[in-house]
Amino acid sequence: MGLQDIRDRIARAEADAGRAPGSVTLIAVSKVQPLDRVEAVLEQGHRVFGENRVQEAQGKWPDFKERFAGVELHLIGPLQSNKVRPALELFDAIHSVDRVKLARRIADIAQEIGRAPQIFLQVNTGEEPQKAGVLPADADDFVAECRAMNLNLRGLMCIPPAGEEPSLHFALLAKIAERNGLTGLSMGMSSDFERAIALGATHVRVGSAIFGERQAPTG
Ligand SMILES: *Cc1c(COP(=O)(O)O)cnc(C)c1O
Repeated sequence: MGLQDIRDRIARAEADAGRAPGSVTLIAVSKVQPLDRVEAVLEQGHRVFGENRVQEAQGKWPDFKERFAGVELHLIGPLQSNKVRPALELFDAIHSVDRVKLARRIADIAQEIGRAPQIFLQVNTGEEPQKAGVLPADADDFVAECRAMNLNLRGLMCIPPAGEEPSLHFALLAKIAERNGLTGLSMGMSSDFERAIALGATHVRVGSAIFGERQAPTG
């Protein structure tokens, strides 16, 4: 538990997989966490954070960004079209791009306001009806359509189904990324980030293992 423990475990997983030290970016997922816990992690020098709601992030991050230089914010939850502008004003990366219309709107507004957020396309590897993301069978076309836009396309993201072996989903995501020439892989959470690193994750999204259990559930 805690930031240093997670950093150590990431370093070990990188070494075990024969990957370069520092090749995995730790996104500390601070959604719903009490502000003092987030501040403690900032005080320890960590600067890369993830939030899953634009509105919640707007409530805490402008102030933290003023007090701590170099904060990098990643949006990891669903993004509605009408929230694209405030999202791009606040976030440096968006991991939940899952439809052409949204990608196009991000490209337009990013250009208008002079931002180039890192973009990850979400793939619904478990083909769950309630979950966001393009189906694996549609992923290649979606990547191609996004490539034709003026986007800073970094890679793919997935959230494996609860109760299934996540490694199968990580391997599928890695395969789709590889055949599309994408190097970024946003995969792995508190319970499975080491398995994700073994399968090539470049960005792991870890919340409760750093900050403790969340007080309230969040979508
Ligand atoms: C909340 C969340 C996480 C972090 O989950 P933990 O199990 O607390 O590590 C990672 N990714 C997404 C998309 C999330 O919504």
